[in-house]
Amino acid sequence: MKAAFLAKQDEFVVSDLPDPAVEGWAVVRTKAAGVCGTELHILDGMIEPPHFPFVMGHEAAGVVVSTPTGSSVKPGDRVAIYNMIGCGKCQWCRSGNEQVCLDPVGQLGFTLDGTFSDLIAIPAENLISLPEQVSFADAALLSCGGMTAVHAIRLGNVSLGDTVVVNGVGGVGLMAIQVAFAAGARVIAIADSAEKAALASDAGAFHVVVLDDEGYAAVPTKVKEATGGVGATHFIELVGTSASMLAGIRSLARHGAFVSIGYTKEEFAFHPIELILSEIRILSSVAASRRDLEAAIRLCADGRLTTVIDTRYALADVEVALDRLRARQVSGRNVLVWE
Ligand SMILES: [Zn+2]
Ligand SMILES: [Zn+2]
Repeated sequence: MKAAFLAKQDEFVVSDLPDPAVEGWAVVRTKAAGVCGTELHILDGMIEPPHFPFVMGHEAAGVVVSTPTGSSVKPGDRVAIYNMIGCGKCQWCRSGNEQVCLDPVGQLGFTLDGTFSDLIAIPAENLISLPEQVSFADAALLSCGGMTAVHAIRLGNVSLGDTVVVNGVGGVGLMAIQVAFAAGARVIAIADSAEKAALASDAGAFHVVVLDDEGYAAVPTKVKEATGGVGATHFIELVGTSASMLAGIRSLARHGAFVSIGYTKEEFAFHPIELILSEIRILSSVAASRRDLEAAIRLCADGRLTTVIDTRYALADVEVALDRLRARQVSGRNVLVWE
């Protein structure tokens, strides 16, 4: 099969690899795979691949080729891939929290070979049948950004009448705006360009703060202005710089929740008094459970969660997609597609 992989740390290539075959697992023919910011972290060495060659990519959808007997999906089914493979036995897996499994088998594109390949090996339990309204490209993007957004909004207990700030209008941010809106919240988005501000408005944000020369220093005041001086009930942090995280804390209402998702090499440093007097809570959210991906797919099928695709590329052109992502030229997500 063709795959895009790291032959060694500084050698990313598109070439041939043996077809994957794991005893007891299903095989899926890839139809779409999203190109995520995480890929840049892996290329830069911030996330170390477990082995070489290492196939990149962790968001995908496709058609089932083969399954072990007794599987709930069968060859020919259209499926999304839930990329986290838990142990299935620990208390976290058993309570539907595979994302914090104590002894995971691994995660595609992080600790196991990923999805930038013609074929993907995966346990059949990780495959979710797609309603016909949900395209392969949609499903691929839901299997990272979509489910991550659902998980964060669920974990933050966002509900009717809340005011949610979504900081960052990328792949996850555009989904988080829609999911928070679907949950009944008013959404304020923070964007770094007029173009992204327009996307955020289209996704359902009632107000957009566009970063200016003052950067994040001006954000708390602008959020307070947009909320009648009260502040937001939630700050969904997808950027993860020291300045943006501090702005998040300072943008919250009393009892507000800061939800940490996006990160960089920068630290989160603040004096505890910034939290204590307002009884602010800090939450963190990592990826999502299988149930969150199912919810994202349902929202998409119902027309309440749409994906924003910048450009579709063939696998052979994956480096162009990655270069444009690095140059911050991508609105929504780039997606690799197979005919
Ligand atoms: Zn991703
Ligand atoms: Zn487990």
